[in-house]
Amino acid sequence: MDRRKILLLIFDGLGDRPIAELGRQTPLQAARKEHLDWFAANGINGLVDPIAPGVRPGSDTSHLALFGYDPIQVYTGRGPFEAAGVGIPVKEGDIAFRANFATMDAGMRVTDRRAGRIREGTGDLAKALDGLDLGGGVRVLFRAGTEHRAALVLRGPGLTPHVSDPDPHDEGAKVLSAKATAPDGAATAKALNAFMEKSHKILKSHPVNIAREKAGKHPANAVLLRGAGIVPHLEPLGTRIGMKAAGIAGVALIKGMFRAAGMEVLEVEGATGGLDTDMVAKARAAVDALKKYDLVIVNVKAPDVCGHDGLANEKVRTVERIDAMMAVLKADLGPDTVLAATADHSTPVSLKDHSGDPVPVVVFGEGVRVDDVTRFDELSAARGGLGRILGRDLMPILLNVSNRAEKFGA
Ligand code: ZN
Ligand code: ZN
Repeated sequence: MDRRKILLLIFDGLGDRPIAELGRQTPLQAARKEHLDWFAANGINGLVDPIAPGVRPGSDTSHLALFGYDPIQVYTGRGPFEAAGVGIPVKEGDIAFRANFATMDAGMRVTDRRAGRIREGTGDLAKALDGLDLGGGVRVLFRAGTEHRAALVLRGPGLTPHVSDPDPHDEGAKVLSAKATAPDGAATAKALNAFMEKSHKILKSHPVNIAREKAGKHPANAVLLRGAGIVPHLEPLGTRIGMKAAGIAGVALIKGMFRAAGMEVLEVEGATGGLDTDMVAKARAAVDALKKYDLVIVNVKAPDVCGHDGLANEKVRTVERIDAMMAVLKADLGPDTVLAATADHSTPVSLKDHSGDPVPVVVFGEGVRVDDVTRFDELSAARGGLGRILGRDLMPILLNVSNRAEKFGA
């Protein structure tokens, strides 16, 4: 059989609801997008319920589903993916926490949850904490993220995520002592409390903080920790489907999803994860990557940002920028590639948050049964030949279209 390559485009939060400002159309219906529509007209279309009908997905759970995993079985929280996203090489069984650099006074009271919105020097501070030995065979892996954000991973024997947050979540409150929330959480609580003590000692005398205090800025003398999550067992996607897989994304969480699924993360200059992201550069990078990889997954975050900010017209313009990206793919993609374009969930402008409304999907490539749909939007897709599928159905469908599916039975 003639096996093909796969390009999966995930437009974050692209789905929407009718918006009064747009004449009761969705941004996809209101936008001019001849190239997206060309793919719809020459492909097979349908609707995707990322997790299940009516379920409001997170970006993490929906990406797991679109990668072909059962999110209900494998998802343990976003902490492990954020840790992988800032570059911590997480391993199954590690315990990951979301972290903030913060300022605390002598009485252990949090006076600034973001340490004066610290931007510089966090890499050096993180380095001073990375590799700490907490006793009992427990070791620290620590990396800085953007601004005051960071991630902590504890690795060692007997650790579980059953532990309370040291982060008091309120300014003016004292940093809390971690407690086991189940009998098997004792070792983790002990390690966390050791980390809180050691990290404070190291941070308060660190040259970065001494310089900050001299300049009248809040020192980053504490790390607030929350949301313990165990790194789940994920069979690497490439191994699972027998393909060499790579991912392209601007935002750290999605990069972490790719890494946790054992995929290579490709850096693209200008891919920011914001509204200013260079989508055409992403499309070019994807075409290039398909020379080396069998499966390339691209996340474009911008539509989700517009949804969360409640910006209808900006979301329309974002669709039009996505269309420019599709023009490049239409021109440059080889006939040996199957292309799928969809969203990880809807982020309706009217809600400013994710909703459980299904999202459109189009699959394009040699051999697909082209249906009558001619436009790429939420309502047109409902009449397509793929019908209505779950997020985790998409990868098997793509494997079949690319002549890579294994036969079930004789
Ligand atoms: Zn998302
Ligand atoms: Zn979102």
